[in-house]
Amino acid sequence: MSQQIQFLLRAGEMPTHWYNLLADFPEPLPPPLHPGTREPVTPDLMLALFPENLVGQEMSAERMIEIPQEVRDVYALYRPTPLLRAVRLEKALQTPAHVYYKYEGVSPAGSHKPNTAIPQAYYNKVAGTKRLASETGAGQWGSSLAFACSVFGLECNVYMVKVSFDQKPYRKLLMQTYGATVHASPSNQTEFGRKVLAANPDSAGSLGIAISEAIEDTVKHPGTKYSLGSVLNHVCLHQSVIGQETIRQMEMAGEEPDVILGCAGGGSNFAGLVFPFVQRKIREGKKYRIVAVEPTSCPSLTKGELRYDFGDTAETTPLMMMYTLGHLFMPPSIHAGGLRYHGMAPMVSHCKKLGLIEAVAYPQLKVFESAVMFARSEGIVPAPESAHAIAAVIDEAIQCREEGRKRVIVFNLSGNGLLDLAAYDTYLSGRMQDVGGSD
Ligand SMILES: *Cc1c(COP(=O)(O)O)cnc(C)c1O
Repeated sequence: MSQQIQFLLRAGEMPTHWYNLLADFPEPLPPPLHPGTREPVTPDLMLALFPENLVGQEMSAERMIEIPQEVRDVYALYRPTPLLRAVRLEKALQTPAHVYYKYEGVSPAGSHKPNTAIPQAYYNKVAGTKRLASETGAGQWGSSLAFACSVFGLECNVYMVKVSFDQKPYRKLLMQTYGATVHASPSNQTEFGRKVLAANPDSAGSLGIAISEAIEDTVKHPGTKYSLGSVLNHVCLHQSVIGQETIRQMEMAGEEPDVILGCAGGGSNFAGLVFPFVQRKIREGKKYRIVAVEPTSCPSLTKGELRYDFGDTAETTPLMMMYTLGHLFMPPSIHAGGLRYHGMAPMVSHCKKLGLIEAVAYPQLKVFESAVMFARSEGIVPAPESAHAIAAVIDEAIQCREEGRKRVIVFNLSGNGLLDLAAYDTYLSGRMQDVGGSD
């Protein structure tokens, strides 16, 4: 009998609720603080940026939050997503390990990010917002939000980190195709952008600068709200559909994971896959090893400090308790743009502090070597971000081979790399180097 490799849920088996890990933490998450008073933020500070319904979710400790029908109808374009067993990768590695991947690259934007872009656009729409402002690095978030805004009839204004704007035109074009307006950041659209440009006209930009610009744009334009694609509690909440589906699909496969992995930039795809498993660790005493994989050049969880820090360069956001490299940290330009953020989601940071998860870091050459191996065995070209998880999975599977022991490994293939082929070109032609950081 041939090996089953796809584990598919029916449309009616899509989760009806998001899962909120805040309800199950054994110790409460330290609250965000007002940057001036250093007191816990009150909802009114957040209301300048976000609609009330999303502020409510950001602060909610309710365990299960119902997914509105209108959101489920849009999720239905690509959810439930498949879980696959990587039998050809297992064979190539000659490992006794069983490797499964949850594939989020089937969404319209090619990554997990629409899982939160869709509800964020929906909640803004019903709250009366006309226009959303946001930032994007390599463009995955911007294109996801542009797609969601087009579905719900909102204007979308995106500040895109300049180095990507210049070097990666395809996601900019995708955003424009969905009807969004895209500015290279630092831009002359905002006071902060003009200030950065005056000091350094050739600034390549950073996510921190782009966030500051999007926030300034928001507070200066009536009818505009801000939207963030990672880090925040409500983003981790929305992503929980990934892990909930995976739990059911692993039941279909008849296996219980030993190791669960995801790449981590701001932490949202990792949170989405692992938080429902973390709940089982806390409540049912399960012994999963849960591993976040980050780049050595932007190692917030493995080398950062756990402390209160700003989410942006201009110091406009509330202070969040998180593993951080400092809000002025300028990550070197690596090809996994989505992992170039100085901090880590407070909820993911809290998991690390409580010993519920661990973290490892990989340099980009090793990551692309793993990405190419995965593409040549499984067929899917992974996003460079997702390939960080693959590098750790491959090491894990090789260890199983060396110890002659089977383990069940599950990871999040957070996106496909079809719009990242220029990065593959750099690797395949031998021009890629490891930058910054060390092992
Ligand atoms: C944006 C992105 C990431 C990193 O963001 P997280 O919030 O850490 O998930 C990872 N993978 C893909 C494909 C992305 O687009």
